[in-house]
Amino acid sequence: MGEKETKDAISSAYEAFGHWSKLTGSERSNRLRSWYNLLMEHKEELGELITLEQGKPLKEAIGEVGYGASFLEFFAEEAKRVYGDIIPSTLPDRRVLVLKQPVGVVAAITPWNFPLAMITRKVGPALACGCTVVIKPSEFTPLTALAAAELALQSGIPPGVLNVVMGDAPKIGDTLLESTQVRKITFTGSTAVGKKLMAGAAETVKKVSLELGGNAPCIVFDDADLEVALKGTLATKFRNSGQTCVCANRILVQEGIYEKFTSAFSNAVKDLKVGNGFSEGVVQGPLINEAAVQKVESFVQDAISKGAKVLAGGKRHSLGFTFYEPTIIGDVKNDMLIARQEVFGPVAPIIRFKTEEEAIRIANDTNAGLAAYFFTNSIKRSWRVSEALEYGIVGVNEG
Ligand code: NAP
Repeated sequence: MGEKETKDAISSAYEAFGHWSKLTGSERSNRLRSWYNLLMEHKEELGELITLEQGKPLKEAIGEVGYGASFLEFFAEEAKRVYGDIIPSTLPDRRVLVLKQPVGVVAAITPWNFPLAMITRKVGPALACGCTVVIKPSEFTPLTALAAAELALQSGIPPGVLNVVMGDAPKIGDTLLESTQVRKITFTGSTAVGKKLMAGAAETVKKVSLELGGNAPCIVFDDADLEVALKGTLATKFRNSGQTCVCANRILVQEGIYEKFTSAFSNAVKDLKVGNGFSEGVVQGPLINEAAVQKVESFVQDAISKGAKVLAGGKRHSLGFTFYEPTIIGDVKNDMLIARQEVFGPVAPIIRFKTEEEAIRIANDTNAGLAAYFFTNSIKRSWRVSEALEYGIVGVNEG
């Protein structure tokens, strides 16, 4: 699909807005709740579809369906509670009322790493408050989006309220940006594309919500509980084979615990079973495509050439295709490519630090303050560090 189909989808959403926005919150709530129920009834099949087209292990994929559906459940409830405000006026005989009204047609552009959840998370609130939507899923995971849209139709959400277009991403993106009927763009994906959309949205002054790339630090202090830190770091680094925006991208370990932690961490990753997401016990699927593997390889090579040491893995997996070994690299410096940009793969670069101040300085040395983690047993440090980290989400003793 391209320009024509996108224009058709916008027209259809624009037309449906008239009816959908006039329903009561309770009527929209019922339909969203039915959509939630249908997703949950089809949890296994949707999970299989996600594993087939995205590659994550089936258990994780089914987990994503529950997580993705939960946004519809939550916003179905919120649909009935779109409250306004009464603001005292400066004049004695007047009152200022604030009403919350739907903005109109929303364009939602989503990535491949959570093919269902990134859709429901945007569409749930939009539909709840009366907006209609044109979704542009990633070209790598179109089937989950289509299955979700089919279930939306079956749940009584009228045709035109939810539209899916896929194909030529820049063409579709430009058409959405140029349309004066599209009043809002919501996007999850790379910072590079997010910047383009933000600039493009300025032409027609659309509202914009962006969830972009990360470069999450995960700090292990000397006073951390080693078991808790290992478990949390494994979870944040290796979920979805390292392909989430909140995956740890840099693991900072204090010098007193460095040897102990890196040796236990290297042993633990050797047990991560890589393979077909449908096989029993597999916790690491393939990367999304060849370009992703090449990016991981080039980052690892850059680090090695600048003095970093491979402690586990470090190359393509013997399974071939786009499988990559769970990898740990020690003695990484914050100026290496692997620490500057998102690796988006199963590679854990470890940086050694001496003091808390140094860790905070290294952690904040990025323009992608999305998520951060740290491990400590000190309550005082928990407060101090969580507020010093310039990040939107901070996990304390938690991956
Ligand atoms: P991406 O390349 O930016 O793609 C995201 C979406 O944008 C896809 O649907 C893509 O379509 C589309 N797109 C690409 N070029 C476009 C253009 N010129 N105009 C309009 N749309 C365009 O990102 P990705 O590789 O799919 O996802 C990985 C990135 O997403 C990572 O950086 C990750 O950190 C970020 N992410 C962030 C969050 C968060 O919550 N902050 C969550 C998940 C992922 P095609 O796929 O069809 O090209």
